[in-house]
This record gives sequence, C-alpha cells and structure tokens, in this order.
Amino acid sequence: MTGKKTHPHCPICRAEVALLDQNKAFPFCSERCKSEDLGKWFGGSYLVPGRAASPEEIVEEVRRPRQND
Ligand SMILES: [Zn+2]
Repeated sequence: MTGKKTHPHCPICRAEVALLDQNKAFPFCSERCKSEDLGKWFGGSYLVPGRAASPEEIVEEVRRPRQND
C-alpha cells in the first residue's frame, strides 16, 4: 500500500465515503444515509459514542418529510 488517503466507509451502507471537502454528508456517503442515521437516533436504538445529532440537524430532519423505502 502507498501513502494514499484512505476513504472511510459509510456507517449505514458501508460504501466508500468521499472526504469532507467533496461530501457535505460526511461521514456518510450521501444525504440519504445521513437521514437514515438520524432516523435511528430518533428511534433511540442507535448509540455511538462521540457522535450526536446537533439541535440544528434534528430540527431540519423533523421539518423534512420522512422517506421510508
Ligand atoms: Zn451510505
């Protein structure tokens, strides 16, 4: 292996995640996975130390229609 940057993997779908400068949904691969993660937080069944949804994110999520598929 060379010294190339390694990409993290999405905690939701395990896809390779673009780095923060190219991906505003970081550390998720997409806005969709980010929303899914927030949904788990709302369900209270998903606890990962070191990451909590900010009040701004929660407000944004509550206002947005939920997409279940
Ligand atoms: Zn993903």
